[in-house]
Amino acid sequence: MFSFTVPGSACSPVIPDVSAGNPIGRKTGASLPDEWIVVGAHYDARNATRCDGTQAPQPGANDNASGCAGVIELARVFQNVRTERSLVFMCFAGEEQGLRGSQAFVNALLNSGDIAKVKHMINLDMIGHAIDDTLSARVETDAAQQSILPIYADHAATYAPELNLIISASTAAYSDHWHFLQRGVPAAFTWENGAGIYPDYHQISDVPGNMQRAQPLASGILKMDAAMIATLAGVHVLFDDSFE
Ligand SMILES: [Zn+2]
Repeated sequence: MFSFTVPGSACSPVIPDVSAGNPIGRKTGASLPDEWIVVGAHYDARNATRCDGTQAPQPGANDNASGCAGVIELARVFQNVRTERSLVFMCFAGEEQGLRGSQAFVNALLNSGDIAKVKHMINLDMIGHAIDDTLSARVETDAAQQSILPIYADHAATYAPELNLIISASTAAYSDHWHFLQRGVPAAFTWENGAGIYPDYHQISDVPGNMQRAQPLASGILKMDAAMIATLAGVHVLFDDSFE
């Protein structure tokens, strides 16, 4: 667990400081252990007491249990695969409070000097809804890192040709790739075709039954991301058929 403190002043009304945590899983690279590929998602909402003391159901199936499930699945896929570089899998807390989990992690890496070890970051946020069978999905980064976009497009074309992939070099501070980009880390935001396409976004109705085409869309995004991880981390073996 990567633990950090959220100042109570982030809440309204102000409450005492809250301790939060990003669950983390690490796999050490075989030959380049000090070069890291970070794969992350935030868990967005929980059915719990909110920081202002109120309680409300926040099922958050698509936003963002889908992304966290994707991180866990990618960790499962790579756990017994030799990688030359290290893999860091993380689910961030405090995203809706202002990207606090990813900000705290990046700040800790800056303080320790480990930020230079992070060679690439992949963010998953809302990967479970498509409005039609064209299965539109997005990969976003900023202008400085736009050279990574055609690499994602190539991997999608090869390993997930069912996706209609939209690439963009004008991302913004609306998910956890942002703080990595601010520190010059090549980072990609991989997701469905925008939060606006999902009618149940930030609603009590964000439940699995309202996600359309979740399996084929998430599967396509995860195949693309898995292929990217394999390339970035240095994998020399072919996957078996258990990854779908
Ligand atoms: Zn959200």
